[in-house]
Amino acid sequence: MAAEQKAIPVPDERTKPYWDAAKEHKFVLQRCTACGLWNATPRVICPRCHASDFEWAQPSGKGIIHSYAIVHQTTAAGFQDEVPYVIAHIIPIEEPTAFIDGNILIDEKDFDKLNIDIPVEVVFEDRGEVTVPQWKLA
Ligand SMILES: [Zn+2]
Repeated sequence: MAAEQKAIPVPDERTKPYWDAAKEHKFVLQRCTACGLWNATPRVICPRCHASDFEWAQPSGKGIIHSYAIVHQTTAAGFQDEVPYVIAHIIPIEEPTAFIDGNILIDEKDFDKLNIDIPVEVVFEDRGEVTVPQWKLA
């Protein structure tokens, strides 16, 4: 039986700019043009000022680990050969309210370096036609 493929994100109208930028290895987030709030999840109305005009802008790609988990068993397609691996809740340094979830790409021998509040930076994982922003220790 052939190994299963990792899930491939399916961009929609609202998320297409994010995935298009990732394909070019650029990390972008939606930002409210009225108040400057960064959104990790694209919005139609700004949760802070209720404006509805946004732009896609490029933050630093740096953040800190808010929380993380080391996955030792998974039923997630395409990840069975990658255990143990790390999933994390990342806080971008520009916007402490815009949590981003992703994998920390790290060798198992370095798991003892993981901790809350340590810096990470974005990296890009090409998965066929889609590129997925991921994270590594900075
Ligand atoms: Zn706003």
